[in-house]
Amino acid sequence: MPGPVLIVGGGQAGVQLCMALRREKYQGAISLYCEEPEYPYHRPPLSKSYVTGATDDDKLPMRPESFYEKNAIDVYLNAPVTSVDIHRSEASVGGTAVGYSSLVLATGARPRRLDWQNDAPAGVFSLRDLSDARQIRAGLQNCKSLVVIGAGFIGLELAAAACAAGVQVTVFEMADRVMGRAVAPTISTFFEATHRAAGVDIRLGASVSGLEHSDGQVSGVQCADGTTLAADMVVVGIGVTPNVELAEQAGISCDNGILVDEHCRTEASSVFACGDCAAHRNRFAGGRSVRLESIQNATDQARTIAASIAGEPKPYTAVPWFWSDQGSHKLQMAGLAFDADSYIERGDREGGRFSIFHYRGDKLLAVDSVNESRDHMVARKLIEAAISPGQDQAGDPGFDLKSLI
Ligand SMILES: Cc1cc2nc3c(=O)[nH]c(=O)nc-3n(C[C@H](O)[C@H](O)[C@H](O)COP(=O)(O)OP(=O)(O)OC[C@H]3O[C@@H](n4cnc5c(N)ncnc54)[C@H](O)[C@@H]3O)c2cc1C
Repeated sequence: MPGPVLIVGGGQAGVQLCMALRREKYQGAISLYCEEPEYPYHRPPLSKSYVTGATDDDKLPMRPESFYEKNAIDVYLNAPVTSVDIHRSEASVGGTAVGYSSLVLATGARPRRLDWQNDAPAGVFSLRDLSDARQIRAGLQNCKSLVVIGAGFIGLELAAAACAAGVQVTVFEMADRVMGRAVAPTISTFFEATHRAAGVDIRLGASVSGLEHSDGQVSGVQCADGTTLAADMVVVGIGVTPNVELAEQAGISCDNGILVDEHCRTEASSVFACGDCAAHRNRFAGGRSVRLESIQNATDQARTIAASIAGEPKPYTAVPWFWSDQGSHKLQMAGLAFDADSYIERGDREGGRFSIFHYRGDKLLAVDSVNESRDHMVARKLIEAAISPGQDQAGDPGFDLKSLI
C-alpha cells in the first residue's frame, strides 16, 4: 500500500490534488488539513456575484461533502498545520504529530495589508476568504459609499459588482493605470473607461493615507493629497503575500513563494508545493521564477504533483491562463507577456470585443482578450503549440487563426 499523503490547505490546489490522486488510482490514505471552518469552496465568485447576493452559499462548495467520503479523503476543518519536521516526515496539527510519506503545501496566500489596517475601525476589509466575503456582503446591504483601495482584478471586480448594486464606489490606484502590472495599456484604458461609464469614480495616481471614523465605524478616508472622502466601507485590494511560513520553518528555501522544480517538488524530496504559495520556473516566462495566482495554475500544478506521487511524473508545462469578470465584461489572458516588446490589436475595441497579441520579435507570447472568448481559446492552443501568427494575420479579424493549428 502506498504511503499517506498529507495536504496542507483546502483551497483550489488542495482539492484538485485530492481529485487528481484518486483519478490516478492512488490507493494510499489522503488527508486534507484546512485552516478554515468551511469545506473547500470556489473563491472567484467572492469578488463578483457573491458579494451582491446573486450567488448564494450553496453554489460555492467545490465538491459536496459526500465526495470526500466516497473517495476516502479525510478532511479536517479548523485544523491548521502549525509545523513540519521534514527529517521525521511529520506535521503537527493541534499539538499532535501526523506522519506522511508525501507532504503537499497548498497554503495559498493572504492579503497584503496597509500599515493603518491593524487598528482599523469597523467597516474596513480585505477580501480573500468566505468569512471576508460574508462580512463585505452584509456591509454592502447598508452601504452608500464604498472606497476600494487598489485597481487590480479583485478591487475592480468588487467595484463593478457594488456599483451595479447601487453603491457609490471610488477606487484609489497609486499607478497611472488600472491593472497596470498585468495587462497592456490599451486594456487598462478600456476597463478604466467602462468602469467610469458605469459610475465608478476611478482615481489614478492617488492613494489613501488614513481613515476617518466615528463611534468605531469608518466614516471616510484621508487622501494623500490632503482631502478627505466620506465612505461607510473600505476594501483594501493591494495584492497578496504567499503563505510560506511552514516551509521556511521546515528549512525549505523560499523566495517570493516556496521554491519548487518542474515537478512542483521542493528541495525536500518528499515535500511538494503548489498554487498561490509556490514559485516555479515557467517556460512561458523565459524560465524565470514566477508565482502565478490563478485557478489554472493551482489546478495544473496539483495534477503535476498527483502524477509524481502516483509514480508517473510529468513536468509542469501548462500554458498559463486567467480570467476576470468585471461587470458585464470578461477579460481572459493566455500566456505571459513579461518579455514582450510589441503588441498588436485585433477586433472591435469600440464595440467592446477585441484582443491584444503580445510579441517578442515575431514570437507570440501572450494574448489578452476582452469579450472575445474565441480568440482566447485559439490563443491557448497557439501558445501551447508554439505557433506564432504573423502580426498582419493577428491584426486581421478576417484571418482565421484556427487554420494555423
Ligand atoms: C476573491 C477572489 C477572486 C478570484 N478570482 C479569480 C478569477 O476570476 N480567476 C482566477 O483564475 N483566479 C481567481 N482568483 C485566484 C484563485 O482563487 C487562486 O489563485 C486560487 O484559489 C489559489 O489556490 P490555492 O489552493 O493555491 O490557494 P487558496 O485557494 O487560497 O487555498 C489555500 C488554503 O490553505 C489554507 N491554509 C493556509 N495555511 C494553512 C495551514 N497552515 N494549515 C491548514 N490550512 C492552511 C488557507 O486557509 C486556504 O483555505 C481569485 C481569488 C480571490 C481571493
